[in-house]
Amino acid sequence: MYHLADGRPVVQKYGGTSVGSVERIQNVAARVADQYRKGLKKVAIVVSAMSGETNKLVDLVTATNPHTSLRNYDMAVSAGEQVAVALMAAALEKAGVPSHGFLAYQLGIMTSSLHSKARIHDIDCKKLHQCWEQGIIPVVAGFQGVTEDLEITTLGRGGSDTSAVALAVALDAAFCEINTDVDGVFTADPRVVPTAHLVQEMDFEVALEMASLGSKVLHTRCVELGAKFQMPIVVRNTFKPNDHPRTIIMSFNAQRKLEAPVVSGVTLDRNVVRLSLSQLPVRYGVIATLFEKIAATGVNVDIIVHNKAESTDALRVGFTIGAADLLRTQDMLRRWSEEQGSGVHLEAERGLAKVSVVGLGMQSHPGVASKVFSVLEDAGIAIQMISTSEIKISCVVAEVDGDRAAQALHRAFIEDDKV
Ligand code: ADP
Ligand code: ASP
Ligand code: MG
Repeated sequence: MYHLADGRPVVQKYGGTSVGSVERIQNVAARVADQYRKGLKKVAIVVSAMSGETNKLVDLVTATNPHTSLRNYDMAVSAGEQVAVALMAAALEKAGVPSHGFLAYQLGIMTSSLHSKARIHDIDCKKLHQCWEQGIIPVVAGFQGVTEDLEITTLGRGGSDTSAVALAVALDAAFCEINTDVDGVFTADPRVVPTAHLVQEMDFEVALEMASLGSKVLHTRCVELGAKFQMPIVVRNTFKPNDHPRTIIMSFNAQRKLEAPVVSGVTLDRNVVRLSLSQLPVRYGVIATLFEKIAATGVNVDIIVHNKAESTDALRVGFTIGAADLLRTQDMLRRWSEEQGSGVHLEAERGLAKVSVVGLGMQSHPGVASKVFSVLEDAGIAIQMISTSEIKISCVVAEVDGDRAAQALHRAFIEDDKV
């Protein structure tokens, strides 16, 4: 892949496990130093916090005040990357490579002001080019951003992938390498479905659905950016040799899409919470206002079920959100239902998971939904909610059934490869 760079920069991102100890950071530095000596000088390294560090920071800030402002949250949880950047720069220095670490504000990774889910608007690459002119390898903090008002933001959990692809786009890089603790993108999470296999070539569309449906290996917005700017994303294992099989995500040609498997992957998202609102007043625009309020809080709503009026003067609506958004959404909904002044009843249900099958071939292949339902039924798994699109079918099930559901669907659609 590197010969394709042809003088263009390359961005390499190393995730939490890859920089999880001093020894691992030194191993990454040794790889970068080796490539540097072989001529790869225009490389920007993006790092996440050492594994477990961001979780610790989230726990600390939540234990201090679960209802604190997202400004405080971002200031706390972005701190892990600062340490990782400094350690990586120090390790490169030790490996004989001049290096310079940057936090987001030092580089100018400008974002929106939506704390905890900020979007990157612009990256100033001037300092990176200056580094390369002097033979210096820049190390950049993932996950963080800064607003025009110099407020610290974060991009959402797992957001370093997005930092890396955004940087690759800003630099007009040849490709963006995501170095992680698995060989690439598999047909399902190999920790849940041991029979899953590596997909060596994947279209942006499939990767996007898999990421957005909860396959943690890539942050959704990194794939969105890759697709929008046609930036190839290479996912590979930090701990394996350079020639080890990996996944390349890019736009393949139309013929390839026609021949795409009906189901390319199975995903499992364990972070699902269902909120149910009942006793909603039957009033013009009430549902629209409700979801406008939720959107304004920066919370993504997934599957929505809107029941018909139970009686002449009450509506019921249920929807799923990510578990991390629960407290904030509940706070907002309580305030909103008080304003409604009609005793709106709010119920939250945890312990759910969403299992999905994804594949471009589904577009031209009827019968996938019915097969999903019968596979889950045969496995004795109750389906609680369903959502479909042209290239995916998702079912909400009890979290305890999640692994089994993913395994059964993988067996039926990928191992048996028949619909
Ligand atoms: P990093 O810290 O490098 O960003 P993550 O933990 O965020 O790594 O993502 C890698 C993990 O994603 C893997 O360890 C694997 O368990 C999980 N994963 C979920 N779905 C998939 C999939 N389809 N293919 C590969 N890995 C997956
Ligand atoms: N350190 C951040 C997190 O744990 C960002 C990342 O890992 O990509 O969410
Ligand atoms: Mg990650």
